[in-house]
Amino acid sequence: MAQGGLIRCRLQNIFKAYEVQFQPVQNEDYWSTYIGPNLMPDLHMRHNKPGRRTTTRIHNEMNRSLPNKPKKCSFCISIGHNRSNCPNK
Ligand SMILES: [Zn+2]
Repeated sequence: MAQGGLIRCRLQNIFKAYEVQFQPVQNEDYWSTYIGPNLMPDLHMRHNKPGRRTTTRIHNEMNRSLPNKPKKCSFCISIGHNRSNCPNK
């Protein structure tokens, strides 16, 4: 098919799409009454509470720190505490 014929085909499709008349949305008073389930939000599922969210992950032995490995601070390079509770900070 020639290039012009292809464009004409596409235009015909566009015209076909707009053949049907679009009805504007009527006033709300003319709407039919809705019969079906009324969905309500579960307020317990909302996450707009302050603070850290509780994890839902299942922890296994991979997540536990090794008990015989001494804590080493990356701030003052001393053993016995870590950076988050360093007394020299
Ligand atoms: Zn320290």
